[in-house]
Amino acid sequence: MSSIYKCPCCGEKSFNPLTKAMTGTMKSKVKCCPKCGKRCVNGKGAAAFAALYYTVSFLFVIFVFFHGQDNYCWDTHEVPLVPALMLNMYLVPKIVNGFCFRMMETVRTDVYR
Ligand SMILES: [Zn+2]
Repeated sequence: MSSIYKCPCCGEKSFNPLTKAMTGTMKSKVKCCPKCGKRCVNGKGAAAFAALYYTVSFLFVIFVFFHGQDNYCWDTHEVPLVPALMLNMYLVPKIVNGFCFRMMETVRTDVYR
């Protein structure tokens, strides 16, 4: 097992691909380490990937939206394609987070209140 599942605070392997996937990135929701109770998030790599992925997906949605009518095939597939892309925008970064990128302790201080 790779060290990406280690807690950044106590060093225990307290995460698995599923719990890591459900853990947010730096500015979103955090997950408590079951061993030490510190709040952990996916680090800078995950945040950068999510930002890039959202941008590309968003541009693609816009492209489909404006050019769907130009093409017979796309016209008939436009309706299911846009929700599918939006679902991808939600799921793909989570799946990638489950298998890539190191974790870090959250930089948010308000979560401790
Ligand atoms: Zn820990």
